[in-house]
Parts: sequence; C-alpha cells; structure tokens
Amino acid sequence: MDCIFCKIIHGEIPSSKVYEDDLVFAFKDINPEAPVHFLIVPKLHIESMAVIEPSHHALIGHIHSVAKQLAEELGIDAHGYRLLTNVGKDGGQSVFHLHYHLLGGRQLKWPPG
Ligand code: AMP
Repeated sequence: MDCIFCKIIHGEIPSSKVYEDDLVFAFKDINPEAPVHFLIVPKLHIESMAVIEPSHHALIGHIHSVAKQLAEELGIDAHGYRLLTNVGKDGGQSVFHLHYHLLGGRQLKWPPG
C-alpha cells in the first residue's frame, strides 16, 4: 500500500521512534511545531477518524493510554499538552493514515489557525 505511515511502521522509511507495541507506533514529527511533537499511529491502516467503527474503539482508547504514558515519561504531563487528530481537508489532514499529534513543552495557543 502506498502509505507513508505504513512504510514508517514497517521500517521502509526511517523515523525517530518514540514507542512501539503490537497495536501502535509513535515517532517524532519531521516538522515539529513544539519542543515535544510526535505522532501516535495505529499499525492498522485506518484512513482517518471519519471512518472509525465500533471495532476500533479499544484501539482508540489504547492510543489515549499510550499518549498519557508517553507524556508522563517525557515529563510534559505536569504542565499539560495537547493530543489531536486532523480530519480531512478542512481539518488540515495531509497524511491519510489515522494519527494523533502529541504536542507539548511550551504554552500552546487556542484557537488554532
Ligand atoms: P496531518 O497534517 O495532521 O495529516 O499531519 C501529518 C504530519 O506528518 C505532519 O505534521 C508532518 O510533518 C508529518 N510527517 C510527514 N511525513 C513525515 C515523516 N516522514 N516522518 C515524520 N513525520 C512526518
């Protein structure tokens, strides 16, 4: 499948891995928007949150648990951080393999641009 994140998960494209287990892979964003910015992606190719089904619910919950664990390990939990997923064109999604941005290490602005 011609998906850049599937290739990263399979080691066909190099990445700075942060975490991996049976279900998810996390790696540093190549264009960081904050001192801490990495992506948590399911190993299963799911195009975006727009096609989540009940069979994916445990996986989505697991991604949140991994985000919490990594935020603690990286020491950004005390000050806070942001977990987000962009959906479709207006959401700013550029890679169509579901991924969650975990951003922290500075005061993040709201609303986003
Ligand atoms: P989105 O715009 O929400 O789809 O986010 C896609 C993210 O993937 C962007 O923040 C990119 O900087 C990041 N990205 C694209 N290619 C790579 C890559 N090869 N390694 C790491 N991050 C990447």
